Amino acid sequence: MYKISVNKELFKDILYKKATILEKETSLYWKKELLQPIIQEDRIKYTIKQLDKVTITNGLGEDKPQLIIECKKIDYSFKNDIFEFHFGKILEQKNTDIQEDYKDNLIEQLMREKALLEDKMHRDHLTDVYNRRKMEADLNIYINQNNSRDLCAIFIDADRFKGINDNFGHDAGDRVLSLLGEKLKKHAIDLNGQVYRYGGEEFIILCFIDKESLIIKLNELRADIKSQKIYHPRRDISITVSMGISFYRDCKSKDEMIKKADNNVYKAKANGRDRIEFE
Ligand code: GH3
Ligand code: MG
Ligand code: MG
Repeated sequence: MYKISVNKELFKDILYKKATILEKETSLYWKKELLQPIIQEDRIKYTIKQLDKVTITNGLGEDKPQLIIECKKIDYSFKNDIFEFHFGKILEQKNTDIQEDYKDNLIEQLMREKALLEDKMHRDHLTDVYNRRKMEADLNIYINQNNSRDLCAIFIDADRFKGINDNFGHDAGDRVLSLLGEKLKKHAIDLNGQVYRYGGEEFIILCFIDKESLIIKLNELRADIKSQKIYHPRRDISITVSMGISFYRDCKSKDEMIKKADNNVYKAKANGRDRIEFE
């Protein structure tokens, strides 16, 4: 079988199928090997010998990288005076330790893509905060941590949101929700927690924090949302939120914790909205 020695870069390119054609100068050696004279109508013509496969090597010695590759066609280019080897499948390979690098890179890339997909699956597409499915998964982890006593749920419900849709249209409502999501994300970082869209105009923040600091920080959040003007051609839109808090240490289950926080939202609504309630 014919052996062609190439430099490391080209070897890599052939191995990873970035290069499927190898160009060889028409040296005397290759002319002798590949050009086959035939006599046609009293004239000497040449045909190009075709090979099923060739060996490609890089470097010297016994342990040099080497591969056997299918050779689909060998052409001769008059213009450039070169032979072109057109490669197909790799049939065998030896000492191609770069293959390990390649595998590692490929696995790394696949893992990155998987993580991105997973993240997408866990997010709400309108607000880009985590969704309810992710909240359930995180809750199961949090309640089994040894700091679960400090786990706290904040239920956040936009006030009179239906009125925003009715007055300004559903698109404006969507815009308000995504801005609300952004604000909540920003403040959740401050609370060392995560935001989830529970449904419609309802969000939940899960975090580990003491009650006193929590109330201070949530009042900042409430004020921040209230002071935000959202542009609309007719008139700027403003929004307030009602919040209900519950602590895992006061509950028998995660469901009870969420229910309690929700009940506290009802209390906040009954007590005039734009406020925080807890027991
Ligand atoms: P309250 O202060 O008592 O919470 O009043 P509310 O109007 O906020 O509550 P209600 O439950 O009556 O209405 C919530 C509205 O939120 C109704 C629904 O159409 C709207 N909504 C839910 N999801 C979306 C959404 O993704 N986009 C928009 N634009 N509106 C939504
Ligand atoms: Mg609601
Ligand atoms: Mg509401």
